[in-house]
This record gives sequence, structure tokens and C-alpha cells, in this order.
Amino acid sequence: MPAQKMHDVAVIGAGPAGLATALGLLSRGISTALITGPERVADHRTTALLDGSVRILEAFGVWDQLEKNAAPLRDMRIADASRRLFRAPEVTFRSAEIGLDAFGYNLENDVLRNGLLEIAQEKPNLTLLRTSVTGLEIGEDVVTLSLAEGAPVRARLVAAADGRSSFVRQSAGISLRSHAYPQVAFTTSVSHTRPHEDISTEFHTPTGPFTLVPLPGGYRSSIVCVVDEKDAKYLMSLDEEALAREMERRASSILGQFKVIKGRGSFPLAAETAVSLVAPRIALLGEAAHIMPPIGAQGLNLGLRDAAALVDLVARAAANGQDVGAPELLARYEKARRSDIDNLMRAVDLLNRSLLTGLVPVHGARGFGMYLLDRVGPLRRALMRAGVGGKAGNTPADHAA
Ligand SMILES: Cc1cc2nc3c(=O)[nH]c(=O)nc-3n(C[C@H](O)[C@H](O)[C@H](O)COP(=O)(O)OP(=O)(O)OC[C@H]3O[C@@H](n4cnc5c(N)ncnc54)[C@H](O)[C@@H]3O)c2cc1C
Repeated sequence: MPAQKMHDVAVIGAGPAGLATALGLLSRGISTALITGPERVADHRTTALLDGSVRILEAFGVWDQLEKNAAPLRDMRIADASRRLFRAPEVTFRSAEIGLDAFGYNLENDVLRNGLLEIAQEKPNLTLLRTSVTGLEIGEDVVTLSLAEGAPVRARLVAAADGRSSFVRQSAGISLRSHAYPQVAFTTSVSHTRPHEDISTEFHTPTGPFTLVPLPGGYRSSIVCVVDEKDAKYLMSLDEEALAREMERRASSILGQFKVIKGRGSFPLAAETAVSLVAPRIALLGEAAHIMPPIGAQGLNLGLRDAAALVDLVARAAANGQDVGAPELLARYEKARRSDIDNLMRAVDLLNRSLLTGLVPVHGARGFGMYLLDRVGPLRRALMRAGVGGKAGNTPADHAA
């Protein structure tokens, strides 16, 4: 079968990372093909996008269309529900303290992905192929991708955003560094009788965080509850009424009475990082490159930073008439992304272990850290700026401190 026309970049996978990458490339005038992969089943989870991600989606020209369905996260409350000897004080982080309207926004996964897909469908210059990649042949100047249906696609660069079991990563022979945790993330959503007031709340429990994240409308929230395997099975087995009461109890009834919204899930916690983010004419991004435990809402935020880095490198190379799949560009991508990915993996691992450990000094240190964060404004603001992944401005309070 004759191959399709040559593209600069073929993006593989229409999850949020792949869709954002394709739209980012188009916004910079790069000829792009997007190979979507199979139709997806409903995903009842939600994703908190932090300020840095919102700015990336703004730069890609897509945030305006997503914002109307997103709930702002103006404040973040962290409470110690561990019942241990050294309990940390409750700390509330306020986005206004670092000059932001919100730390970020929470969106339902289906709303986010379908919203991005709708925008992609309207782009006349995007080659959108609703099929899967079944093979890839890497030549000196070009990659040829075989598809389950239709003519092969040729591109200078493959941006692999084909998820945690990435076909491209495996075909390129890139292995993973993996670590499994003895925990499972149980997810559900609820409506509640008290308003969330745009505040997300994280209770630290001995098995991991129990997090309530606002959804649009004021009276709905999503829940991510990190528990051990037995507890996850128990929560999955409850009927809606019993689950509502159990979630309400774990939330200390701070949002009043709960009613469960359809759809719950159970996700074993794992940390996986590709040993290399690149191979000849291939760059990995999103969960094809890294899977992290859903603690601190970081996974897709990290994936969108991959997308921003790759889009920028490709656009610069194209503007200078250079090959967008050249080894130098790929080396720059690896360098640009490696430390962010590894540092975040370590930070999430450390936070998770500090909750799980039985060691009293660790609880004392965590409690003291929270005390400092509560009392020392500049420290708290520095952490908040680092947390949203961006350059939120200094506030008058910082200069005065
Ligand atoms: C419980 C939970 C809560 C989370 N909460 C947050 C949060 O609040 N904030 C946050 O930032 N992150 C969060 N995450 C992480 C976030 O969900 C993921 O990082 C994100 O969904 C991954 O997106 P992706 O596009 O990389 O991969 P995916 O969404 O898996 O997309 C991969 C796509 O590739 C396609 N594909 C596969 N094989 C092929 C092929 N051969 N050819 C073509 N296409 C193919 C698939 O069909 C799929 O559409 C959470 C994760 C969990 C488990």
C-alpha cells in the first residue's frame, strides 16, 4: 500500500498527553499526524491540572474551550488523620498568597479528553487517523508506521504518547525502572449537601492520602482514596448507600451528606520510568515515559510538561530548517525532561513513604515540617510556587518578610 504524505511529527495515542502534543505542534505550524488508538471506554476519574499546565494549554490555544467545564482549586487544605503520636497541624495553602486566582483546575477525564478531541477534529491541517500503530520501521531520515487500517504513515519524528503499555516504547526496546507499592487508589465521585467553596482537602491517613477535589457547580467532588488492597476490595464491594456513608465518615463529614455519583475505580499504585526517553527518531511522553502514584495530582501535569518541551524543540528546529527528528534534538529533549521526571518521582515516593512508615521520628519530622509551613509564610509560598510547576509572582508579603 503506498504511504501517506510525509509529516514532520506522528503523534501516537489520543489520550490527553497525545492530544495536547498534537494541538501544540499545530499551534506552531508543524505538519502533524495523530494516530488515536482504539475507542476508549468511559473514564470516571478526574484530573487536577495545576497552574503550570493551564499555562501550557493556553499557549497551545486550547484552554479557553476547556475552562468552562473546570472547577477552580483556590485553596488546598491538608489534615493529618493518622491518629499517631506526632500529628501534624492542619495547613491551608491559599492561591491568593502567591498571586494566583487558583492553584489549578479539576476536570472530569472524559470532559478533558473529549474536549481536546473535539478541538483536534476541527483542525483542517491535522491528519487524524482513528486506528492503531501495529509496526514501525526506523530509517535514517524517516520512520514508517504501519497501521491496523489504512496506508502507512511516514514522519521525521514519532511522539509516542501511547500510554503505560506503550507499543512504541516496547518496539524501540526501551525498558522501565519499576516500583510497586502495597497500595491501591480507589476513586469515586460524590455530590454533597455543603458547598466545597473551591477548596480541595487532603486527609493524610496511615495508608495514604484521602483527597476530596472540587468539581464544577459547588456541590460535587471527586475522591481519590489511597488504601491497602483489602480496603480497596471492601470499598469496591459496597452498595451506593453504604459507600456514601463510608466516604462521608472518612471525610469527617466536612462537606455534609454524600450521595455517590455513578462510576468507581481501583488502580494499583506503581512508579515506572522509562530508562531512556528517546530512541532514534522517537520521543516518549506522558505515561509512555512515566507512571506515578496518584499522590499530589502530578501525573498528567508532568506529561504536559513533556509535551511543552517537545513542541518547543520541534518548533525551533523547524523554524531553523533543521531535521525535527535529529539525534541532537532528541538528546536535548532527554536532558530537558529527565531531572523533572526523576525529581518528581523521588518527591512523591518520599511523601508516600513518610505516610506509610511506622517510624515515630519520621512522623515527628513531617509534623514539624507542616508546623513550619503553617507558620512561615515565605517557606509556604516557595513550596506553593514549586508545587504549581510555575513562576507565580512574588507577593508583597515575601518582600516584607
Ligand atoms: C486514580 C488516578 C488519579 C489521577 N489524578 C491525576 C490528577 O489529578 N492530575 C494529574 O496530573 N494526573 C493524574 N493522574 C494521572 C493521569 O491520569 C495520567 O497521567 C494520564 O491520564 C495519562 O495520559 P496519557 O495521555 O499519557 O495516557 P493515556 O490516557 O493512557 O492515553 C494513551 C492513548 O494511547 C492509545 N494507544 C495505545 N496503544 C496505541 C497504539 N498502538 N496506537 C495508537 N494509539 C495507541 C490509547 O488508546 C490511549 O488513548 C491520575 C491517575 C490515576 C490512576
